[in-house]
Amino acid sequence: MSNAFSIHPAVDNGIQPAAEHFTGGTLVCHCSQDPVRVRVDAQSAHNHACGCTKCWKPAGALFSMVAVVPRDKVRVTDNADKLEVVDPKATIQRHACSRCGVHMFGRIENPDHPFYGLDFIHTELSSEQGWSEPQFAAFVSSIIETGTDPALMHAVRARLRTLGLEPYDCLSPELMDAIATHTAKAKGTLKP
Ligand SMILES: [Zn+2]
Ligand SMILES: [Zn+2]
Repeated sequence: MSNAFSIHPAVDNGIQPAAEHFTGGTLVCHCSQDPVRVRVDAQSAHNHACGCTKCWKPAGALFSMVAVVPRDKVRVTDNADKLEVVDPKATIQRHACSRCGVHMFGRIENPDHPFYGLDFIHTELSSEQGWSEPQFAAFVSSIIETGTDPALMHAVRARLRTLGLEPYDCLSPELMDAIATHTAKAKGTLKP
């Protein structure tokens, strides 16, 4: 059965499992000349489909695919001068190629943020196979904000479940719990 929509090209034909002992790869932007290259020396974690309005999505896809890696494992190796921050006021500073628009990595500069120390990356930008596979879909309802017909949402959620990507309208319960735990510890409600 074919679908009238693409969740994301990396999952539309089934999800590729992570490779054991995978140690990273090089993210390359879409410029045919002088592409930006970012070396990532780590396996990714918490890979997921994201429907939010801020993550970079490939053309035609309803969702982005986004994962995290330790920020000290991320290094721009080529054409760093083409990078610029999409929205300097955003919590996640998305460093994008100013020529082709691809987001190369997202970084949190606030040390009090629950995800400080992790950079957000799109593993599809690397030709290496074996990155951690997407595990769920976040901010699913938000795709309506980027133009998806609300009447399509039932079919979108059904498709996500078929792919094994449980749809959530925020982050996954595991990540929401991690954020709440961080907040409770910061407030002193929960002892560290
Ligand atoms: Zn580019
Ligand atoms: Zn997002």
